[in-house]
Amino acid sequence: MIVTKKRATTKPIRNALRDTAHSQTVISYFRTPQQEQTMDKKIILHIPHSSTNIPLSEGYLVDFITLEKEILKLTDWYTDDLFYSKDDEMIVAEFSRIFCDPERFTDDSQEVMAQYGMGVLYEKSDNGEEIRTVTPELKEKILKSYYWKHHHKFSQAVQNHLDFYGKAVIIDCHSYPSQPLKRDLDKNPKRPDFNIGTDSFHTTKELIDISVSFFEKAGYTLGIDWPYSGSIVPIEHYHKNKNVSTIMLEINRALYLNEPSNQKSENYNQVKQIVSEYIKAIKNSL
Ligand SMILES: [Zn+2]
Repeated sequence: MIVTKKRATTKPIRNALRDTAHSQTVISYFRTPQQEQTMDKKIILHIPHSSTNIPLSEGYLVDFITLEKEILKLTDWYTDDLFYSKDDEMIVAEFSRIFCDPERFTDDSQEVMAQYGMGVLYEKSDNGEEIRTVTPELKEKILKSYYWKHHHKFSQAVQNHLDFYGKAVIIDCHSYPSQPLKRDLDKNPKRPDFNIGTDSFHTTKELIDISVSFFEKAGYTLGIDWPYSGSIVPIEHYHKNKNVSTIMLEINRALYLNEPSNQKSENYNQVKQIVSEYIKAIKNSL
């Protein structure tokens, strides 16, 4: 299902933000015990693609400039800042997706992007150029020292939330270029402002409804499972534990960058504010 809507002027967005800010100030002064509990709820923000760090140069076939170009194209720029929330648990990958992609399956036979040389360890660029040779030994080394360490941290955070709150709520935080990448499965050039990704088992109807109404009120277009679908869940809970819920939020980079560069545009702070209000809306529903 896709929700498309003409973008409204920026005025209603600012008004909506102001109203929300005002009501929250009121709550902070007149909290009931129940509200206190709601405000203490924390969620997990999984941020896999914001880093530009390549910790090991082993196996790469191309020069630094070629790698930099690929990093510019594929990094979800500043998502660690756009989704920053001091009250929540942020699990941020400390390495670039060009080095190791935490959102891909380690088994190539399960990973749809492996056929393009872009499985868990990219061997080709988005254009299809060979960028790295990955031997089985190198794969094992990188998975052990980076991929599984990241996933262990993520799983541990989810387990802690289950132990403490009885449930865990994950937002999988990304951004995408306004024009499809060569290897994108969806090639439609008309892309929405924001995109939520859902999972049939772990994304509740309530999480979807809140997202649809939030972006509609804020005056932005929203794609549901378009152009990207799905959302991350630790494998041990995948389609087993309903107490783990997840939703992905992707931001169209045209909203906050002067594409194709990684320079922040003048709307950057406004987009950051919208994302922060969205996180609050999700938390208020818990
Ligand atoms: Zn991403």
